Amino acid sequence: MEWLSPTDSANPMEKWLQRGDEREGDAWREECGVVAIFGDPEASRLCYLSLHALQHRGQEGAGIVTANEHTLHAVTGMGLVSEVFDENKLKKLPGSSAIGHVRYATAGASVLKNVQPFVAGYRFGSLAVAHNGNLVNYSELRAMLEENGSIFNTSSDTEVILHLIAISKKRPFVARLVDACEQLEGAYSLVFLSEDKVVAVRDPHGFRPLVMGRKSNGAYVFASETCALDLIEAKYEREVQPGEMIVIDKTEGFTSSCLMPRTERKACIFEHIYFALPNSIVFGRSVYGSRYAYGQILAETAPVECDVVIAVPDSGVVAALGYADRAKVPFQQGLIRSHYVGRTFIEPSQKIRDFGVKLKLAPVAEVLKGKRVVVIDDSIVRGTTSIKIVRLLKEAGATEVHMRIASPPITGSCYYGVDTPSKEELISYRLNVEDTRKVLGADSLAFLPLERLRGMLGDEAPKFCDACFSGNYAVPPRDLTKLKEETMKPVQIVNEGFEGKIEATPEEAKAAEQEALAAQKEAEAASAGVVA
Ligand code: SF4
Repeated sequence: MEWLSPTDSANPMEKWLQRGDEREGDAWREECGVVAIFGDPEASRLCYLSLHALQHRGQEGAGIVTANEHTLHAVTGMGLVSEVFDENKLKKLPGSSAIGHVRYATAGASVLKNVQPFVAGYRFGSLAVAHNGNLVNYSELRAMLEENGSIFNTSSDTEVILHLIAISKKRPFVARLVDACEQLEGAYSLVFLSEDKVVAVRDPHGFRPLVMGRKSNGAYVFASETCALDLIEAKYEREVQPGEMIVIDKTEGFTSSCLMPRTERKACIFEHIYFALPNSIVFGRSVYGSRYAYGQILAETAPVECDVVIAVPDSGVVAALGYADRAKVPFQQGLIRSHYVGRTFIEPSQKIRDFGVKLKLAPVAEVLKGKRVVVIDDSIVRGTTSIKIVRLLKEAGATEVHMRIASPPITGSCYYGVDTPSKEELISYRLNVEDTRKVLGADSLAFLPLERLRGMLGDEAPKFCDACFSGNYAVPPRDLTKLKEETMKPVQIVNEGFEGKIEATPEEAKAAEQEALAAQKEAEAASAGVVA
């Protein structure tokens, strides 16, 4: 069996492998989770709990904004939800409506100013926004806005949305939102909060998930995943449809409208492979069910003589159960994940090999010693972590290590809300399966075939984005990775977090009232059949 050492100069991945785990781990990162609550006196607490349920979607920062009377109250901070909020902070967030956000910051940009929700005051009042996704035309929009005098406070694409709303000439407020959203290209699941409304919007392709639920007291809940609804005992009602804008207004109640011309739906299949929790329903499908089926398919398409099936926890576990079931081989816990690893650890001065991965994953010799092991992982990005896992398993006594990957080979970057390396860094962009196996040091390697993944989705397959495997990008990509690393000026602002309120001035409140009056007149004129 031929293997290549990571330090071998003949190893085509050597340059990348020597860089090691520059980011924590070697996985793709979801950039955000969003929540909105409308009509519950405990809105901020429900928002806080929902953000806990979505913590896996972002661990770098969190924030909540509530609306009370004519005032928006905000608390944001760096760190986990439990680190940002305490009893005192939640007491500073009164009101019956709220939006919240958890964020994964892109490399080198863990800047507090970028932690959402963003809050802005403009001539018609105050507005907060939380965003999951990525705008592919961000740089053009920002350049256009800067040309027209806009000043930006952050390096986040979400800020352009607020500027577009502020400069829109449309009225009323909802028309301005539509006007702004029509200029956006790419992926966005957005929740907005004004003094009297919560708005939920999804881009026409529906790349990122967004669901709606109700509590028994009638309160509306919007969230990235259903696991957030479950925790606060809200009943899942439906997805916010691609291209749909739902407005919940204190006086006008619930309205739904289709924003933009219907286009092809492109839900991110990676949500099912890796990002979402297995207890969530995403895009109307059970994540657990999907992952179990991926494992079963792998057992059919890449069988191998083995004694035990193990998983790289946590996201490989359900697929491993599916593999074990179909292969009729016992599933065991051969790797134990530590759930207490912080973001930084001080390495001993005498370097320990594979220190980072050993901190997170501990092999169980009892399960592995003298065994032929199938190990299931959700995906391979650069390959750096997979090399270490294979080595850990062999050092713990496994006689053979067969890697099975519950996704097709990743050959392209994502431009729709996932922080990804450039494609040159992706091991499957550079190497075929056999060469990848040699680099990993595994005895065999197999991926989930793309055609079987599509086959599993059946008639719905064209409604899912699989661009990072197939190269079929529904919205033409711009080189965002390059933009992030080279072009964007870093915003280095350090402060203790935003905590405060934005109150409407008497002039703003008056302008908002006038606007509401004008909107009412327009609506009356329309219903009376008057054509302006
Ligand atoms: S490119 Fe990949 S990660 Fe990005 S939206 Fe499409 S399937 Fe999801």
